[in-house]
Amino acid sequence: MSSIPMRSLVRAFKPYTAGLSIDEIRDKYGLARVIKMASNENPLGTSPLVRRVLESHAGLAFRYPQAGNPRLVKALAAYHGVSPSRIVVGNGSDEVIDLLFRVCAEPGVNNAVAFRPCFGIYTTQAALCGVELRQADVNPDFSFPWDRLLELVDDKTSLVFVTTPDNPSGHTASAAELERLARALPEGCLLVVDEAYMDFTDDESAHSLLPRLDEFPNLIVSRTFSKSFGMAGLRLGYAIMPEELADHMWRVRLPFSVNLMAEEAGIAALEDTAFHDETLRVVREGRGYLAGELERLGCRVYPSQSNFLMFEVPAGAPDAAGLFEGLLRRGFILRPLTSYGLPRHLRVSVGTAEENTLLINAMRELL
Ligand SMILES: *Cc1c(COP(=O)(O)O)cnc(C)c1O
Repeated sequence: MSSIPMRSLVRAFKPYTAGLSIDEIRDKYGLARVIKMASNENPLGTSPLVRRVLESHAGLAFRYPQAGNPRLVKALAAYHGVSPSRIVVGNGSDEVIDLLFRVCAEPGVNNAVAFRPCFGIYTTQAALCGVELRQADVNPDFSFPWDRLLELVDDKTSLVFVTTPDNPSGHTASAAELERLARALPEGCLLVVDEAYMDFTDDESAHSLLPRLDEFPNLIVSRTFSKSFGMAGLRLGYAIMPEELADHMWRVRLPFSVNLMAEEAGIAALEDTAFHDETLRVVREGRGYLAGELERLGCRVYPSQSNFLMFEVPAGAPDAAGLFEGLLRRGFILRPLTSYGLPRHLRVSVGTAEENTLLINAMRELL
């Protein structure tokens, strides 16, 4: 072993597995066009208003952003009808999740609880922070076994994570289920509901506790600009939480982690309701189309309220790995789920109508 000093948990660390990039696949297979349906990005691309704002602010790249991102926080507070003092913005919601571990859990003392499989960032950041992550297996149909989750909670549990709509399955809990969980948790245990995909659901109020935040003193809701707002590359996410916690999160957050372009773009994205509405329309329509066609191809498709679908490849050749490879050669990047412990499943992000049709045609040839 080298003499470079490193914490032992860094030496043992398993990094997050990201989706493959377009450039990588284009070069590897010598393709003219690559369609990426791997990372749940916005099929419509960047909002035209965001693009204009980025261009008009290019000359400000030499400035530091204003500490505390107050204009963005104010815009988000107005958007959700909550007090600005409850909002923390971060370099993607990934940063907010990381901060939650570091702020709320004492390493080696406190634990966190989530379902398995769960979003990879919970696993990586818990490990890096030295916080035990306890996981309850989801049901075979990927619905949530609330009792098994609650059994893992004890008086040292600081954080319970629920992703809804869930990644990678697309399963979505009802607001009533979340309400029961929030009320069942002991005092001093926070419920973090990761709503990265909530606006894609058919009916937000049936699935989100956000409109009723004031009823739950232990509730944190996180959201992101990466998906429906089309800003994954700018890195911007946020969470709404109890004021006292938000105050301390801001004190320890790196001062400029949300950069000036992301801040301006975020404010513009909230204003561009036409783009956001059109995104939701295209995704809901494409989700229905893809679900129907994948089923016709013999795949088991899991119900999704999100901008992606998880499916199981039918028995026989090719298997999920083979189908994934075959699609790569034809220029389609999907998301294998081996890193989630699901070797027979693939996840596909809903694309434009054209992309969805091309994908189904390619799959028809392969299956
Ligand atoms: C995509 C995603 C996020 C968003 O991450 P960002 O860091 O904001 O890009 C958060 N949670 C889940 C479950 C996701 O799938």
